[in-house]
Amino acid sequence: MDRKVGFFKSIQFKLIIIYVLIIFIAIQIIGVYFTKQLERQLVTNYFEMLDERANLLSFNLAQEMTKNKDDRSALTSNINRLLRDTFSLEQQSEVQVIDQNRVVVSTSNLSNRHIVGQQSTEVRVKRALLGNKFEDVLRDPITGHRMRVLAVPIKTDDGPVGALYIEASMEDIYSQIRQINSILLSGTFIALIISSVLVILVARTITSPIMDMRKQTMRMGRGDFTNQVKVYSVDEIGQLATSFNDLTMKLQDATLTRDREQKRLKSVLTHMTDGVIATDQNGRIILMNKRAEELLSVSSKAVTGQLLPDVLQLSDTFALYDLYEHSDSVLLDFSTKEEEYLLEANFSVIQEKDGPINGLITVLHDVTEQEKIEHERREFVANVSHELRTPLTTMKSYLEALEDGAMSDQELGPRFLSVTQNETERMIRLVNDLLQLSKIDSHDYKLKFEPIDLGLFLHDIIDRFEMIAQEKHITFKRKIPSKPTYAKIATDKMTQVIDNVISNAMKYSPEGGNITIALLHQGHQLQVSIKDEGMGIPRESQGKIFDRFYRVDKARARSVGGTGLGLAIAKELIHAHKGEIWAESEYGKGTTIFFTLPYYAMKEDER
Ligand code: ADP
Repeated sequence: MDRKVGFFKSIQFKLIIIYVLIIFIAIQIIGVYFTKQLERQLVTNYFEMLDERANLLSFNLAQEMTKNKDDRSALTSNINRLLRDTFSLEQQSEVQVIDQNRVVVSTSNLSNRHIVGQQSTEVRVKRALLGNKFEDVLRDPITGHRMRVLAVPIKTDDGPVGALYIEASMEDIYSQIRQINSILLSGTFIALIISSVLVILVARTITSPIMDMRKQTMRMGRGDFTNQVKVYSVDEIGQLATSFNDLTMKLQDATLTRDREQKRLKSVLTHMTDGVIATDQNGRIILMNKRAEELLSVSSKAVTGQLLPDVLQLSDTFALYDLYEHSDSVLLDFSTKEEEYLLEANFSVIQEKDGPINGLITVLHDVTEQEKIEHERREFVANVSHELRTPLTTMKSYLEALEDGAMSDQELGPRFLSVTQNETERMIRLVNDLLQLSKIDSHDYKLKFEPIDLGLFLHDIIDRFEMIAQEKHITFKRKIPSKPTYAKIATDKMTQVIDNVISNAMKYSPEGGNITIALLHQGHQLQVSIKDEGMGIPRESQGKIFDRFYRVDKARARSVGGTGLGLAIAKELIHAHKGEIWAESEYGKGTTIFFTLPYYAMKEDER
């Protein structure tokens, strides 16, 4: 990500290349045009100058030649002088004067003196002697230099008297042009260097804000929005930088909002009492909250990426697309032999409007307790109906029998009536018990607690029972400390509890059995136990006898007049006293019912 752009790929380099090329091409075009023009100008000037001189010389020579036609030596020296006067400055030029007979009369080139007096072989001279001017540019075969070659006839009024042959080197002009070219070249070079430096500086002003923005985007990528890029100018790049800063701020806002939302969502998910599982469009788990982990006893790491129906153990019943359309909740049964465990799952599809399905949200909650309560409620209603139906059916059949004539029977009449009376009483007891339980359940009762010496309280109750127990030859044994032991209790309710337990003990005790009632003071608690020597309770039923309508032996319990609600009421009342109640029993040998109550340390002034 943080790769530096190589220099040859950079905008700077591209700009340098473009600028340098433009400058180079411009200078080249100007240079070529300029030198061409210059060359033409110089050459033209030179030609004109040569022409002028040649004309002047030919005119002078013509005069000289007519004047000194006969004096040959005077003529030669005059011609030499004229040549020297006119072409003295031309170093690499040669001017020859040729007479009518094509004999070289004079030459300006001292090293070429030997040709004087010889006949010229030049064709151009021949033509000039005929009166035609010749001019051309030729190359020196030895040096390769360009030369202006002129053959001018020397004319008098009588016609041509000779010719002037000029070879003038143009090398001066070309060396001048070469010099100018080299000046231009070095100028170009300097211009290129200077412009490159300038371009680098100019390019910097473009690239450095861009580099700044690039660095900022990388920081933003890492989540750092604190910096702003510097706005260098008010041009397009400056505007870009301003908009960029704007964008940074908006993005920061958006990121903050998103983070906040995410945190909120996360905390909602974490603290939810329902389990939540989110999947992708393929039904693979991508998210799971803590509660869902607890409910399914899995770790979210372990199941991330697994298919939802597999994790919910639904793959046998539902395919993934079934869940997409499943608007009702699904009950997941994870119960084992030992324990019941039920979860309810609700599914909702994540789908953009008219778009494809993006995933599925599953909400789980533990309905074990709810189902249990529901089950208990149904069972309770069934139990109540059953409990009421039995005495009612019995009564109905006895009443029918009475109606059919048993009433007039001396012996059967009163017996049948007493049975119906017993059943009515049982129903009343049952209804009373039910009412009391209903009051306890709806917390529609107030207990009036008062400190009582529990020992004395127990003695009173036992005294009362001893009277009845005589019939069954049951003996009560008391293990109650003589020292006053206080507890804060609602006496009427506690009487009901103890009555119920002792009457159970009596009901299920054999003739002549013992019932031992003990009171024990253990620290902050008082423990009361009522032990009988009766039939006992099987181990598996010991916890259940405190459930509503539970009876170990239904027929027997009913025959002794129990409603099956006594111990259930006792349990509720003991709990209301912040105590516990439980049973210990050895089947066939006897039962002990224990319950505890908080000890009340009575202050002196309260006694
Ligand atoms: P019930 O009115 O039928 O006695 P309880 O709630 O008082 O109802 O008792 C529930 C069941 O517990 C009884 O039906 C009986 O089977 C069993 N039970 C209670 N106490 C004793 C006991 N002392 N010995 C044996 N079984 C008992």
